[in-house]
Parts: sequence; structure tokens; C-alpha cells
Amino acid sequence: MRIEYDIKLGFKDVMIRPKRSTLKSRSEVSLERDFKFLHSPVTWSGIPIIAANMDTVGTFEMARALSNKNIFTAIHKHYSIKEWTAFLTNPPKNIENNIAVSTGTSENDIQKLIEIFKINPNLNFICIDVANGYSEHFTEFVRKTRAQFPEKVIIAGNVVTGEMVEELLISGADIVKVGIGPGSVCTTRVKTGVGYPQLSAIIECADAAHGLGGQIISDGGCSTPGDIAKAFGAGADFVMLGGMLAGHDESGGEIIEKNGQAYRKFYGMSSATAMEKHVGGVAEYRASEGKTVEVPYKGAVENTLQDILGGLRSTCTYVGASRLKELTKRTTFIRVNEQENRVYTN
Ligand code: 5GP
Repeated sequence: MRIEYDIKLGFKDVMIRPKRSTLKSRSEVSLERDFKFLHSPVTWSGIPIIAANMDTVGTFEMARALSNKNIFTAIHKHYSIKEWTAFLTNPPKNIENNIAVSTGTSENDIQKLIEIFKINPNLNFICIDVANGYSEHFTEFVRKTRAQFPEKVIIAGNVVTGEMVEELLISGADIVKVGIGPGSVCTTRVKTGVGYPQLSAIIECADAAHGLGGQIISDGGCSTPGDIAKAFGAGADFVMLGGMLAGHDESGGEIIEKNGQAYRKFYGMSSATAMEKHVGGVAEYRASEGKTVEVPYKGAVENTLQDILGGLRSTCTYVGASRLKELTKRTTFIRVNEQENRVYTN
């Protein structure tokens, strides 16, 4: 047994210190970024926010709404080939660069991936997603996928430590997804005791990835636009959102009426709800590691996006970053014991 005594930090442990700035208005801030990748020859530009590949968030409807704004969607892996065919016959603009096709690591998953790329060979992004990116089998799968799809941008995760980021990048990933346990409907930390505070995970993993010419996605734990700004400030190239994009018209999840109020179901991909829906129940050898919740219905996702993008632009003006790209360089975090004033919050 060993203890690391350095305290690791989450979003709630810091704030961003304001700095002198020459920017006059939020409208002067550009949130678009351009990326080249470590292995794939594809180039990408857009606003580097990603709807999570959960079946309540990473939907085709979400991709339609988000790609209008040059925002990315990781489409969940539970759509049938028939549903993919229908979607790709009438796709939103620039779909090749605005969605990733998600996959697990089973033989069935890879077959489905091949089928989807047959429908549209120009889709550029693959998201290989497992709850625990530390297994050797996973690295091997990334290596095989790279060999099979040399031109695609491969996203792989999740991990939370620099050495594993390096291992995945060397094995063929272009972008590594970072986050174990911070998610709003995740119970991994409760069920297993395993995890890593997200802000420190981002700082350490971004350092490892950027050293090799790769990128990272901060995945999970953002509950406000301010958290997204902190994730970018810490060095995340992309930020993935689940809960913040749940409950909208474009989200999945059953709609429920209670006392005249509308709600939408939102659940973790390892929750009993998801396992019952997709694999016929929770297998005997495992515990569910996700919650099922009901989130108040929030209307069109466009309003939430405006709130998020407006918040991010404002962060940039507070620290004098005219482009999102400069935010990390301009960020000084201060450690704090308070966040917002909650007198009027219940
Ligand atoms: P959020 O933005 O809601 O805080 O976090 C979204 C992320 O939570 C997802 O992208 C995914 O990485 C993670 N997640 C989704 N479902 C589950 C689950 O059932 N269990 C765990 N441990 N994590 C989940």
C-alpha cells in the first residue's frame, strides 16, 4: 500500500482569477478551435464541446441541433443499422466532422462499426468507450482499430493518469477521454472507491497528451458553464457533457408528467435502466454503476447552448483570452473553500 499526499482537485476546489484584459466585449471572443491529430490526417475545426455518447444525450436529434453550431456529438452505440441508414440518408451539414461513431470492444461492436462506415465511408471519428480504460485488452483493441482504420480520428477512454494517456496515444488513439467517476449519474466512486478528482486529472493528462502531440477530452463532472470554463482552463482540448445536455427536446429518455411538471428520464450507461434496456438486465457478476434520475424538462437545447457559450465567452473576457485556445495559458486557478452564494438556491 502507498499513499500520495498531494491533494487532487475538482472543479469545486478552485476559481479562475480575473486578469487585466484589453477585450471590450464578449463578442470579440472566438470559441472555435482548429486541430490536427497525432495519427489521423483529418483536420477539424469547431467549438470543442461534445455531447456524451449516452443514449439519453448522444442522439441523432442532438447531432442535428449541435452541428448547426459546429458542436460535436458522440452518437451512442445503441442505434440499429436501420436507424443509422435513415439518419445518414438525410444528414445535417458537415456531418463527417461533427459526429463520432461510438463502439465498445466486442466483436459485434466492431462489425457494427464496419457496417456504419459502409453507409458513409466519410465519417471521420470513432469513439472507443469503456468504463475502465486500464485493461490490456482495451489497449490491444485500440491498436487493432488503428490498423484497420488508419485515416480515422480515434477517441479512446476512459483513463485519468498520464502514463495511460501516453500508452493509448502510442497505441493509436488521437484523442484520449479522461474521467473516472465524476459523472452526474455515475456511482463508480460509491461502488468501488476508485476515481480521480477531475480538475487534477485534466491537468495531468493534458500535460501527458500534449507532450506527445495528442489531445484530451474532459469527460464528466461539469454541472455549470463555469465548470466547462475550468476544464478548458485546466488544459482540456474538448469537454464532454452528459447531464447538462439531458432533459431537452433533442435528448432521449422517457418523458414523465408529475404534478403538472414535465421531466425526462436520464440514466447512466451502466445503470440498471440502461442494462435492462440494452442487454436484458444486470449480469450476476456485476453491480450497476449508474443512477437513474428524472431531470426537469428544459425545452430546446439551443437555449442551454447559448447559456454555455455565453458563459465561456465571458470567462475569456475576464482573463483576456480573445480565443478559447489562449484560455489555458491565461488561467491562474486559486484554491477556494467557497463557490457561489446559495442563499436563493434550494
Ligand atoms: P456528466 O456530464 O453527466 O457529469 O457526465 C457524463 C459522463 O458520465 C459520460 O460521458 C460518461 O463518461 C459517464 N457515465 C455515463 N454513464 C455512466 C454510468 O452509468 N456509470 C459511470 N461510472 N459513468 C457513466
